[in-house]
Amino acid sequence: MSVTRLELQQAIRTVGLNDRPVCVHASLRSFGQLEDGATTVIEAFLSEGCTLLVPTFTTSYRVVPPVHLRLARNGWNYELPATLPPTASRYYTPACRETTRDMGAIPAAILARTDCRRGNHPVCSFTAVGPLATTLIESQSALEVYAPLASLAAHGGYVALLGVDLTKMTLLHLAEKRAGRTLFRRWAYNPTGELQQIEVGSCSGGFKNLQPHLGPLAQVTTVGPSHWSAYPAQRTLDLTAEVIRAQPQITHCDDPQCIRCADAIAGGPILA
Ligand SMILES: [Zn+2]
Repeated sequence: MSVTRLELQQAIRTVGLNDRPVCVHASLRSFGQLEDGATTVIEAFLSEGCTLLVPTFTTSYRVVPPVHLRLARNGWNYELPATLPPTASRYYTPACRETTRDMGAIPAAILARTDCRRGNHPVCSFTAVGPLATTLIESQSALEVYAPLASLAAHGGYVALLGVDLTKMTLLHLAEKRAGRTLFRRWAYNPTGELQQIEVGSCSGGFKNLQPHLGPLAQVTTVGPSHWSAYPAQRTLDLTAEVIRAQPQITHCDDPQCIRCADAIAGGPILA
């Protein structure tokens, strides 16, 4: 039996997301059968007065930086052969409509709407639709990658995990920054052909280790076979930053050789 828009709207109210800005990370597959797919989810949230915020990343705009720009402790093994094209022929603007394929069906469907607002970050843009879309998006910039999430938290927003776990919660990268880590730097060309340094997140594989701490903050429900958890953004940020300061290793993923986890936990890139 198909999950309907009315069931989605009921679930949105059950976990208290109605009339709020909500960053959604979702697996459409978790719903089993879903009437009209991603469009139904988007319409359900908008009908409940939400502003939807989603990551719409575009990793293909990254380029390999020249040797003199390569920062130490930056979660990047520069010795490995580089496969990124060192060319200025492609550059991102918020008018771009492409996104990396694995971002999922909901981000793709939001980007296809003429009323969406997209942030100005060449690799990790966020896109929003709904009453607070411009407010959330306008502060994103190359070196403030998570400004839309900070704005979401400041406006009483939530992060909703629809059939996915904490490893998908981008907000926790902002918590790493608030705990005192410098976020990694990458590079992309800007529209005038100059190489620009941009801020990006690290490895999120270890975020599942935060479940015992963050789980009690979540409102949960199920929609058909899909498990939903709704986290209040500000409290999640505050608690996560506190836990990371006390136990920095908690964010390490299962790969003991992970260079991104090692460098992030050590404090991130050395900028000077
Ligand atoms: Zn890792």
